[in-house]
Amino acid sequence: MQTHILGYPRIGAKRELKFALEAYWNGLSGRETLSEIARELRHQNWQAQIDNQLGFITVNDFSLYDHVLDHSQLLGVIPERFQDGSSDAFDTYFRMARGRAPSGTDQRACAMTKWFDTNYHYLVPELSADQVFELNPGKLLTELREAKQLGHPVKPVLLGPITYLWLAKSCQADFDRLSLLPSLLRTYQLLFELLADEGVEWIQIDEPALVLELEADWVNAYTTAYQQLSNPRIKTLLTTYFGGLGSKLEQIAHLPVAGFHLDLTRSGNDYLKLASLLDQDQILSLGVIDGRNIWKSDLTQLSDQLQSLAGKLGERLWLSSACSLLHVPVDLEQEQALDAELKSWLCFARQKLAELNILASVLGGDPTDALDDNFLALKARRASTRIHQPAVKARLTSITPSDASRSSPYAERAPLQRERLNLPLYPTTTIGSFPQTSDIRQARSALRSGKLSAGEYEYVMKQQIKTCIESQQRYGLDMLVHGEAERNDMVEYFAEFLEGYAVSQYGWVQSYGSRCVKPPIIFGDVSRPEPITVGWSRYAQSLTDKPVKGMLTGPVTMLQWAFVRDDQPRATTCLQIALAIRDEVCDLEQAGIHAIQIDEPAIREGLPLLASEWQAYLDWATFAFRVSASGVKNDTQIHTHMCYSQFNDIMPAIADMDADVITIETSRSNMRLLEAFADFDYPNEIGPGVYDIHSPNLPAVADMVRLIELAEQQIPAERLWVNPDCGLKTRGWKEVSAALINMVAAAKTLRENRLLGKTA
Ligand code: GLN
Ligand code: ZN
Repeated sequence: MQTHILGYPRIGAKRELKFALEAYWNGLSGRETLSEIARELRHQNWQAQIDNQLGFITVNDFSLYDHVLDHSQLLGVIPERFQDGSSDAFDTYFRMARGRAPSGTDQRACAMTKWFDTNYHYLVPELSADQVFELNPGKLLTELREAKQLGHPVKPVLLGPITYLWLAKSCQADFDRLSLLPSLLRTYQLLFELLADEGVEWIQIDEPALVLELEADWVNAYTTAYQQLSNPRIKTLLTTYFGGLGSKLEQIAHLPVAGFHLDLTRSGNDYLKLASLLDQDQILSLGVIDGRNIWKSDLTQLSDQLQSLAGKLGERLWLSSACSLLHVPVDLEQEQALDAELKSWLCFARQKLAELNILASVLGGDPTDALDDNFLALKARRASTRIHQPAVKARLTSITPSDASRSSPYAERAPLQRERLNLPLYPTTTIGSFPQTSDIRQARSALRSGKLSAGEYEYVMKQQIKTCIESQQRYGLDMLVHGEAERNDMVEYFAEFLEGYAVSQYGWVQSYGSRCVKPPIIFGDVSRPEPITVGWSRYAQSLTDKPVKGMLTGPVTMLQWAFVRDDQPRATTCLQIALAIRDEVCDLEQAGIHAIQIDEPAIREGLPLLASEWQAYLDWATFAFRVSASGVKNDTQIHTHMCYSQFNDIMPAIADMDADVITIETSRSNMRLLEAFADFDYPNEIGPGVYDIHSPNLPAVADMVRLIELAEQQIPAERLWVNPDCGLKTRGWKEVSAALINMVAAAKTLRENRLLGKTA
């Protein structure tokens, strides 16, 4: 039985690519070194596929930065600002990605955005109305020839034309990207010829946009495209993932392609319908192995499910990963931080190759002991006492609607909070973190390596908190924070203390370019055995008369930025986390902390791909947030924070969270976010970020005053806060000091202007 994968992680098991890229960008090594490391990684990836007896090795899934950027380069889609002759193709690629490269002049980088509903970010192609496509197949052909040398069948992967246009943005407002389709298709035709000349039999052509809710002209474009691309010299596998085909299924089933790939984990019964519509010579590739999570597959269940289809289709049934394995860590084998029992439940990219091999043997009528091992591992996981905590389950069932609402509405809470917190008009605050200096990082690594005892580490952190509080007092901020010195990461920090979470050592996944994240693993019922942040916050509050804001990560973000257990609905897991955070919120209040921020930067990115599924998600997500926030008295002020400004479409849900104060990013969009507030009357307080913390430029007082005045057109001054647009951990103290001093001056100006306005 034919097996393959849609793609493999490219960063390397120990993030070799990340370090090689950064060394090259920083001028510490040459491009030969980078290219050599990249070649070695590709080789390892292919060898892993060969070792696990996959039918094909997949080619062109590797990328030095991003596969969509590679595709732009392949098609010659290079925005004009990079065509200044100041760098060759190698560095132009990095200039497009990051705005700069070792050679060439700096330019505004291409925009980056999330790849469907994953945490991977791609570089958005920029198309113009008179766009010319020109094939640049150097990278593709190099990798293809490298792979062929291994003497194993190869299958190049390409991004499909419609998805490419869909992901792109047009530089001119009034032009339709689909108008470029005819010339784009001619370029693909040439590309197909080229690949056929290279002896390629199959190409995987990725069209994930097909799973979205598309307008009719986009759906019809698929028919146009694949009719025109049909070529007797080459076989195309039309590949979709992250969802099913929905009402488009019949139309797509009739396209003249050699085969289809479906994401079996996310497309319900589409595979049966599609199988019944196949022509005699078409194949069906089923994405049976989850590419988005790290659990062992239930191979027994899969083989039962697919037995009869395998009998019917014979060699025309292929087995694959559901999507590219890009979204899971590379290799479980090297993992040291996870214990043996937990590891026996898990499966990273490399282990997923073995699963494919096992399932193919079984379905091909060749039973193997490995199937029994898989069965026993899953059975042991289900029965493990580490997963099921009766007390957590009982608590969950006893949640009532009143647990998810504050005792009084905002209008009644606000005056009580104002009195207790004693805040001026336009109160100033920050989002939580202060610079993570090398001192802090060194202390943390000394603690890890045992060079620093827990007590010594605590002392160092307390010194940091003290400096942080003193600095904020000097700047004249109204509501202080402890600065988050003790946190490596806003999710991992809490995961380390919560029951039901595990933190890996090498579970890295690419987020964009050289940037990787290490999501913790939620394997069991979540609870909080003891207070996590209370000691730090209480200490910080003891140093000042100003209110210190407690700082927590919210349940949706704690879920969204983790690998989540697959044996119960996400909503259930989220609610368990919410209860754990609620305990922390209540303990903070008990300890004399009267403002508590529950960060939810990930709430928007949890939205399902299909708009028809949004409301159900928003309902449980906002419910979980309210459960985490509603255990406190009326005069305790709950804050929340979100990054990124595309909230316009979920404003009612954000209001539904009922935080007393929300701080958000707006400065980069020049308060455009606030247009949303024109259409929707946000009832509570809001801190629209007045400066962009991602920029090294010092924000001017006048600019910040102007931004708040703009905000005042939508939101009354009594409900406005003055704050940066995100946490300050990536910045240095010097710039932070200068910026916050200006920000406090801006608030002062606003108060004075208002007094003058009143007396006038
Ligand atoms: N409190 C966090 C910080 O200040 C929030 C981070 C975030 O928005 N992603 O760093
Ligand atoms: Zn933020």
